[in-house]
Amino acid sequence: MSTDKNCLFCKIIRREIPADFVYEDDEIVAFRDINPQAPVHNLFVPRRHIESANALTEEDAALMGRLVLAARGHAAEQGFADSGFRLVMNTNAHGCQTVFHMHLHLLGGGQLAGGFGATR
Ligand code: 5GP
Ligand code: ZN
Repeated sequence: MSTDKNCLFCKIIRREIPADFVYEDDEIVAFRDINPQAPVHNLFVPRRHIESANALTEEDAALMGRLVLAARGHAAEQGFADSGFRLVMNTNAHGCQTVFHMHLHLLGGGQLAGGFGATR
């Protein structure tokens, strides 16, 4: 399994930095975002170090499907799948990615603001 010695999320996955885990399986972990932007704001993260959506290959297609299903499953388990939620994957500078270990934000548990934060 590819891991990066200096990557923040690899350190969380290796339990070197604490986090509030809400989901784990063989290839995915999820934990609470330290700076929540919604009543529920969790990060679904592949255990394997993948820098961003730009580094994904055809071989990651099933993993990405399972990442979405894990996030949706968590929303269902928490009882807000039907009322609705948002999945976000920020990528590189213009997408405002700040941690370069790709992850899916799950935002929900209440009414979210509309729009995508575009400047124009
Ligand atoms: P990005 O900006 O790359 O899409 O998302 C990175 C997210 O990681 C941000 O929402 C930020 O609040 C969160 N984050 C940054 N450092 C930590 C940390 O040490 N622990 C946790 N749980 N979340 C973090
Ligand atoms: Zn990493």
